[in-house]
Amino acid sequence: METFDYVIIGAGSAGSVLTNRLSEDAAVTVCVLEAGPSDWHPYIHLPAGFIKTFHMKSVNWAYQQEVGPYTGGRSIYAPRGKTLGGSSSINGHIYNRGQRQDFDTWAQLGNRGWGYPDVLPYFRRMERRIGEGDDTY
Ligand SMILES: Cc1cc2nc3c(=O)[nH]c(=O)nc-3n(C[C@H](O)[C@H](O)[C@H](O)COP(=O)(O)OP(=O)(O)OC[C@H]3O[C@@H](n4cnc5c(N)ncnc54)[C@H](O)[C@@H]3O)c2cc1C
Repeated sequence: METFDYVIIGAGSAGSVLTNRLSEDAAVTVCVLEAGPSDWHPYIHLPAGFIKTFHMKSVNWAYQQEVGPYTGGRSIYAPRGKTLGGSSSINGHIYNRGQRQDFDTWAQLGNRGWGYPDVLPYFRRMERRIGEGDDTY
C-alpha cells in the first residue's frame, strides 16, 4: 500500500495552497484527494463563466441550506465548487480585503495571530500596489 507524509482532502483554495507549499520540499510526499473532476470546463476559465457554473452540478455541489430562523424560514441556495480549485474555480474573481474589525474581533476572541496587524503583511505580500500615497496599508 502506498503511504504519504500528508493527505489533503479537497483540492480547493485552501487545499491547493497547502499542497503547493508542502510539496516545495522534495523530501515530502503529499496526496491530494478531490471529490470533483478536473477543471477543464471552458466556463471555469472564462472570467464571466461563473454565471454558467452557478448551477452546473458536474462542478458544483449545489447545496440547499436548511430552513432556519435567521433566513426567515427560507431555504437558500448555496453553490460550492466540486472540481480542481474548489469554489475558486466557480467564483466571481472579486478581490477585496476582509474588514479590519472582523480580524480584530477574532483575535480578541482568543485567535492569536489573526488580528489585522498580524494579517496585514500577508495582504500586502499578495497585492501589487499601483500609484503614490501612504504605503502603510
Ligand atoms: C459562486 C461563488 C462565488 C464566489 N465569489 C467569490 C469572489 O468573487 N471573491 C472571493 O474572494 N470569494 C468568492 N467566493 C468564495 C471563495 O471562492 C471561497 O471562500 C473559497 O474558494 C473557499 O475555499 P476553501 O478551500 O475553504 O473551499 P473550496 O475551495 O470550496 O474547496 C473545497 C474542496 O473540497 C472538495 N471536497 C469536499 N468534500 C470532499 C471529500 N469528502 N473528498 C474529497 N474532496 C472533497 C470540494 O469538491 C472542493 O473542491 C465565491 C464562492 C462561490 C461558491
